Amino acid sequence: MTDPTNDHRTAQAGPGHTGGGPPAARPATGPEQNGHGAGPEPGRGIFDKDLLDRCISCGFCLPACPTYALTGEETSSPRGRITLMRALETGRLDEDDPTLAEESSFCLGCRACETVCPAGVEYGLLLEQWRDHQWRGRHRPWLARLLMALVSRPWLLRLQGLVRRHARGGGSPAAKPETGPADQPVSLMLGCVERGLYPKVSRAVQQLCPEVTVPPGQGCCGALHAHNGDSRTGAELAEALGERLPGTVLTTAGGCAAHLAHHLGRDRVEELSEYLDRDGRRPTGQVTVDGRRARATLQDSCHLRNGLGVSRPPRDLIAEVADFVELPGADRCCGAAGTYSMLRPSDSRAVLDPKLEDLDRLDVDFIVAVNPGCLRQLQQSLRRRRSRVRAVHLAEFLAMASGPGTGGGTGSREL
Ligand code: SF4
Ligand code: SF4
Repeated sequence: MTDPTNDHRTAQAGPGHTGGGPPAARPATGPEQNGHGAGPEPGRGIFDKDLLDRCISCGFCLPACPTYALTGEETSSPRGRITLMRALETGRLDEDDPTLAEESSFCLGCRACETVCPAGVEYGLLLEQWRDHQWRGRHRPWLARLLMALVSRPWLLRLQGLVRRHARGGGSPAAKPETGPADQPVSLMLGCVERGLYPKVSRAVQQLCPEVTVPPGQGCCGALHAHNGDSRTGAELAEALGERLPGTVLTTAGGCAAHLAHHLGRDRVEELSEYLDRDGRRPTGQVTVDGRRARATLQDSCHLRNGLGVSRPPRDLIAEVADFVELPGADRCCGAAGTYSMLRPSDSRAVLDPKLEDLDRLDVDFIVAVNPGCLRQLQQSLRRRRSRVRAVHLAEFLAMASGPGTGGGTGSREL
């Protein structure tokens, strides 16, 4: 079959393409293609039609898209991908089409396109629906299947908790819920990745927020499933976790926060920085390096920033305990993108590399992350580059500031 986006390959981005307004060329989403004008084409029910019809093909999203920046190809842009989704929906392309397979995978799912879209296209939901169809069964990457199977087994997560017992702060996790600032119980969600790779993060949260409890028997929140072609299981896991965690669900992972907020309601879920910020709580002490106040920057979590609109609180908190320096393009994806860095390592590195170069020029001691996937991506890449900059989670950074003893923490190289 022909590529329905070929018509507007002429609109590819050159150097001047990402600087100004949207690319002027119209995509191949004319009247007969978007279901208007010549009469709607029958749909296959893969997508929510209202969501798919919302795109007006204006192209404002193109400069915001990291994969479009890499290739300059319309097919690798949000608008081009929506054109592909429409072709899939109407049957003009079938799911075995190689462009469909490639682009459903190449997209980072960062949702940067949503923040600039004047028509309110919920691209993240469209991508979930696309992958539900495109990646079903044997079409789902085997690594994603393996990870989803691992985090779906509560006994494996319990095993992680036993192996890394300090993830629970060594306390009695089944304690009666205490109440937070708003007289609501506050339950700390441990997170599948975090409890295994970064157990010190939950210990740091308990140090910063002694009112939180860590209910036992937590499962996966389902974000991994929703982003990898199984949104039904993603929803079921989110709802099950919501029943196990009383009151406010506090999370230190931007990706989990956005997924849980979508399924449990925005008022049930808070990411750490907004939780601390809500009542104006400020960390104490400062982070020092070699006897001076540390310089620190932030890498946004895409889903926290683009999905939940949280960007100021982590910056304010860092600025309380260190000299905050804004990283150019902090709002751009770091290339971790859930399983993306494992499924597409070279594309992931291509997305990250310009950020690392900016970071070199910034002369900071720390880059702070608010999502474990971003933290892992940054730590590994900085280690490979033998950079002096250390990547650290926000919770650990703030806990480091209050430090043991007198309110002055030291930037430890162990992190
Ligand atoms: S997704 Fe939004 S910004 Fe992008 S082309 Fe469609 S309407 Fe325009
Ligand atoms: S989710 Fe990110 S990578 Fe995918 S189309 Fe939108 S901006 Fe581009």
